Amino acid sequence: MKTRSDVVGVVLLLVVLLLLPLVLPVWVTGTAVYATIYAIAAVGLSLLMGLAGQVSLGHAAFFAVGAYTQGILVTRTAVPGLLSAVIAVALAMLAALLVGLPLLRLRGHYLALATLGLGIILTVVAIETPFLGATSGIFGIDKPEFGGRRYDSPVEYLWLLTPVVVLAIVGARNLVQSRVGRALGAVNDSEVAAETLGVDTFRLRLQVFVLSAGYAGVAGVFFAHWLAVVNPNAANFALSVEFLLMAVLGGLGTVWGAVVGGFAVEFLDEGLREVVPLVVPGATGEVQLIGFGIVLTLVMIFLPGGLHQLFRTLTRRWAPVPAAVEGTAAGLGDGPLLAREGRPEPGTVLLSVRGLTKHYGGVTAVDGVDLDVAAGEIVALIGPNGAGKTTCFNMVSGVVEPSAGTVEVAGTRIDGRKPHVFAAARATRTFQNLQVFGSATVLGNVMVGRHLRSRVGLLRGMLGFAARREEREIVAAAREVIDMVGLTADADRPAADLPFGRQRLMEVARALAVEPDLLLLDEPMAGLSGAERRDLARLLRRLRAGGMGIVLVEHDVEAVLALADRVAVLDDGVRIALGTPQEVRDDPAVVAAYLGVDDDDPEAERAAQALAEVTHDER
Ligand code: ATP
Repeated sequence: MKTRSDVVGVVLLLVVLLLLPLVLPVWVTGTAVYATIYAIAAVGLSLLMGLAGQVSLGHAAFFAVGAYTQGILVTRTAVPGLLSAVIAVALAMLAALLVGLPLLRLRGHYLALATLGLGIILTVVAIETPFLGATSGIFGIDKPEFGGRRYDSPVEYLWLLTPVVVLAIVGARNLVQSRVGRALGAVNDSEVAAETLGVDTFRLRLQVFVLSAGYAGVAGVFFAHWLAVVNPNAANFALSVEFLLMAVLGGLGTVWGAVVGGFAVEFLDEGLREVVPLVVPGATGEVQLIGFGIVLTLVMIFLPGGLHQLFRTLTRRWAPVPAAVEGTAAGLGDGPLLAREGRPEPGTVLLSVRGLTKHYGGVTAVDGVDLDVAAGEIVALIGPNGAGKTTCFNMVSGVVEPSAGTVEVAGTRIDGRKPHVFAAARATRTFQNLQVFGSATVLGNVMVGRHLRSRVGLLRGMLGFAARREEREIVAAAREVIDMVGLTADADRPAADLPFGRQRLMEVARALAVEPDLLLLDEPMAGLSGAERRDLARLLRRLRAGGMGIVLVEHDVEAVLALADRVAVLDDGVRIALGTPQEVRDDPAVVAAYLGVDDDDPEAERAAQALAEVTHDER
C-alpha cells in the first residue's frame, strides 16, 4: 500500500472489527459479521465495475457457487475445511472464466445480461436439484475450527474474518495502484489508446472478472459457515442487487468505498427490515428490494461518485495547481534518440501495406493503397481532407478492420488483429482526435506507455511489494520521454488540464514510452506553437537518426516537405503519388489534387499554396 490514508483505513478497520464488538450489543456485531462478509464480495464487484468497467448483475451466482461448494464438501466429504474453501473459491473463479471467456470479447453490456441470467439459472437449478437440497438447501454446516478453537460467537467470527477482509482490501488497493490497475484505468478513459499502447483489454478484463468472482467465492464460504445453511437465496437477484448497491453507494472502483458501502447497506437492510413492515403492513422481501432500488437510483442521480465522492468533496484541500510553463524540449541536441539494441538496421522494411482498402457502405474511404516504411526514415502521408489518411492509420494499427488488403509489421501479418497486437510488434501511434487518459496525470498517461516493457501481472500487483522495483523503472523511463518532448514542468499535472497542444505532445511522449520501432503520428503538429513545432521536428529527426521508422499524417505541408524522406499522397482514397518531397512537389497530379479542392477548405487552400510556392521558388 502506498498511501497514508490506506494505513489509516486499515487501522480504523482493525479497531472496528477487533475491539468495538467487545462493547457493542450482540445484534450489532451479528450485523457486522454479515456486513464484513458482503463487503468482501462488494470489493471484488467494485474492482470489476470501477477498474474493468464491466457490470455484473448476478454476482450472487459466484457467491452461491462458493457457498454451496463449501457446504457440500464440509457436510458430505472428509475434505478439510481449508482445502474445501480453496476448491470452492476456485470453482467460483472457474464459473466466471467460462462466462467471461466468450462474452468479454464483445463490447457492450453482454456480461451484465449473462451474469443476470446466470444468477437466475443457478437459483432455479438449486431449487430443482435434490443433490443441492432443493428449496431447503444444504444445512448442518459447522462453524469453522482452527488451532483447536471454534469460531462460534459473532465476536469470534469477526476476528476470524478480520485478516481475510484486510488482505482482500490490501490486495485490491495494491491492484488498483499497480501496472494492471493503471492499464485498466486507461482502458476506461480511452480503450483504443490503451490498446495501441499494448494493453490487451480482453485479457485484463477477464482476469479482473475472474478475480472478482474469487472475492465473491470467499464471501460465500464464510457465509455458509456463519449461517450454517445454504439455500437458493444465496444466488438470488436481491442479493446481487445488494452487492451492486454496496459497490455503487461506496463509489465505484474505490476499494474503501465498497467496504463502507458494505456496512452502510447491511445496516440499512436491518433498518428497512424494521421500518418497512411499519409503513407497509404485511410487506415481504420484494418491498425491501424496491427500497434498495430507490436508494440505488437516488445515489446514481445525486451522488454518482458514491460516498467516496462525498468524502472527497468534504475533505478536499485545494492544492495549488502548477501554472502552465511555456517550455521547450529539454536538452535538445542533435544526436540520435531512443536507439535500441536489436532494432532492425536502417533501410529494413518495418511496415508493408498491400492493397489496403476500406469501404463504408457505398463510400470507399481507402482504395488499394500500397506502402512500405523502413527503419530510419520518415514517410509523410498527405492529401486533402477526407482523402483517407486517418482511415489508413486506423487499419494499419488495428483500430479498424480493412475490407481488403494486408498489413505486415516486422514481417508479421497483423491486419484485422487488435491494436495491442500492433503494439506488441513494436509499433504504436497517436491520434488526430486526442485520446487523453483524462483521469491520470501526464506522468500517469506516459507510464501506461511502458505497459509492454514491464511485466508485473495481477498477482504480483496485488502483493504490492513485489512490484516496487519495476514501478521505479517505469517512472524513470516515463520521465525520460516526458523530458524529451519538453513537458517536464507539466509531468505531475492532471493531463485533462493541459492545453490542447501540450496534450498532443503528451501523446507523442506516451507513444515514445513504448520504445517503438515504427511510430505513426496523426497530425502531431496541430495546435502546437511555432517553437513547439520546431522542437518536435527536431525530435523526430533525432528519433529517425536512432533508427525509428516514422509515418506522419500532417496538414502542415511545408513542415512535412522539409521533414520527410518520402511522401505518399492520397486523394479520394487512392495513392496518387509516392516519392521524395522534390518529386511530389513537381507532380502535376498532386498539385491538381490540392488545387482542385473546395474553395471553402482553408487548410487545403494553404497546402495548395505551399506546394505552389515551393514549386514556383524552385523554378
Ligand atoms: P482529414 O484530413 O479530414 O482527417 P482523412 O484523409 O484522414 O481526412 P478519413 O478520416 O480517413 O480522411 O476519411 C476518409 C473518408 O472516409 C471520408 O470521406 C470520411 O467521411 C469517410 N469515413 C471515415 N470514417 C468513416 C466511418 N466510420 N463511417 C463512414 N465513413 C467514414
